Amino acid sequence: MKFLIARFNHETNTFSPVATSLADFEPRYGEEALNEQRDARTAMGAFIRICEAQPDATLITPVSATANPSGTVAADAYTHLVDTILDGVREQPDAILLDLHGALVAENAADGEGELLKAIRAIAPDIPISVALDLHGNVTPAMVENADIIVSFKTYPHIDMAETGEHAGRLMMDWIAGKTRPITRFKQLPLLSHTLRSNTNEGAMQRAVEAARRAEQEPGVLAVSVMAGFSLADFEHAGMSVIVVTDNDKVLADNVAGDIAQRIWREREGFVYRSEPLAESIARAKALQAAPGKGPVLLLDHSDNVMSGGTCDTMDVLQAALQAYLTPIVVGPICDPQAVQRLWKMRPNEVVSADIGNRIPLTQQGITKKPLRLTGVVRAKSGGEFTVTGPIYTGARVSMGRTVLFDTIDALIVISERRMEPYDIGIFDCVGLDPSRYDYLLLKSRMYARPVFGALAKALVECDADQGGPTSSNYALFPFKNIRQFVYPLDESTNFTD
Ligand SMILES: [Zn+2]
Repeated sequence: MKFLIARFNHETNTFSPVATSLADFEPRYGEEALNEQRDARTAMGAFIRICEAQPDATLITPVSATANPSGTVAADAYTHLVDTILDGVREQPDAILLDLHGALVAENAADGEGELLKAIRAIAPDIPISVALDLHGNVTPAMVENADIIVSFKTYPHIDMAETGEHAGRLMMDWIAGKTRPITRFKQLPLLSHTLRSNTNEGAMQRAVEAARRAEQEPGVLAVSVMAGFSLADFEHAGMSVIVVTDNDKVLADNVAGDIAQRIWREREGFVYRSEPLAESIARAKALQAAPGKGPVLLLDHSDNVMSGGTCDTMDVLQAALQAYLTPIVVGPICDPQAVQRLWKMRPNEVVSADIGNRIPLTQQGITKKPLRLTGVVRAKSGGEFTVTGPIYTGARVSMGRTVLFDTIDALIVISERRMEPYDIGIFDCVGLDPSRYDYLLLKSRMYARPVFGALAKALVECDADQGGPTSSNYALFPFKNIRQFVYPLDESTNFTD
């Protein structure tokens, strides 16, 4: 049998000014994609292993392409990657297995995955298609109509990519063997959840995923996926949904999806994040530092989260912290190549006033900010390269570009040429700084910073910028235009019936 397996992943923050080009996907083609993914803990890796275990299997692997979350995908990148997959479909495979994200928006395709699946169906109307998704996908009618099987991750932080691929792959193999006839239905909720409320280890999301796992035990139910969706997407179908695969039973699929959707709706407040004013977060951080205990108070600025399309350069939280005398404060990377260019030339102990951060206008939100002018000395310079020792991407080689440590006495700021989510101690090690010795630590992150830096902090305070940021949690700051009418909490009067 001939199997087509491809991977094309992006979580698009349509409000992010960070461009997404073909190069950002680091695409691998054909044999190279196959070899790179064969042992990977991804859905594509699982697909490859399952298909290669079949007798007389031939694999077509047109592409493996994945980019970190950022702004709307460039039209030429989208067209090229879709065309590459379609070329594979023209080789007439017997089955198609796709590793997708579910929240891809391109300049020329608002419903990135839906358009891809539609185009595949147009060429191959009768070939079975199985899809693995990230649970942050915004599912659309076009996706469900044009795929036979859809299964998503059940964990966030994500640790079950391979298990999801195994599940979606197993359902395909059972179908090919004539054991089942999978069909997929979904129920969309008028609910924009928040990433910080999609943690599957706590609260309403944990309970929803548990309900999905229980439903999977029912006879005839083959897979149940709770989609948290991705809300920083000005897209008609942004938001939560439930996807159910059954053995050829539409009524059962609709009933299971409807029941879990109703349960989610009853708990809707548990999926919403209400930001407190920044001044209150700062005051809380100060009180926590005065309490007994060792280590810094960790301030997490989730209004500029790199792994959701943040610019890594907004300065609101640092400015507020300095005004409230939260000192000494260590600050994780601020991406500012202009500042690095200037500070790189400074001699040791040469005092300099430098403009830092707030360089990239937040055009999509209609926000521009001014750099923060600070006076200090350059304490260290580094090539910004390190090997990750923490639990996320362990062993990966990272480069932040040229990096300086700027010391203003009140603040010790790591400034880098490239954007970098602070998930590893290497961001400070590379400039010889030990953040655990200071009173406050400010990092731009929602989740990824927590395993390493949460462990060395005495307390943690989530901070949002009152004036908005590329990944702010206050949806009122985003000019949603394309999303469907009546979605909670954008419209608090939203109802969900049936
Ligand atoms: Zn995700």
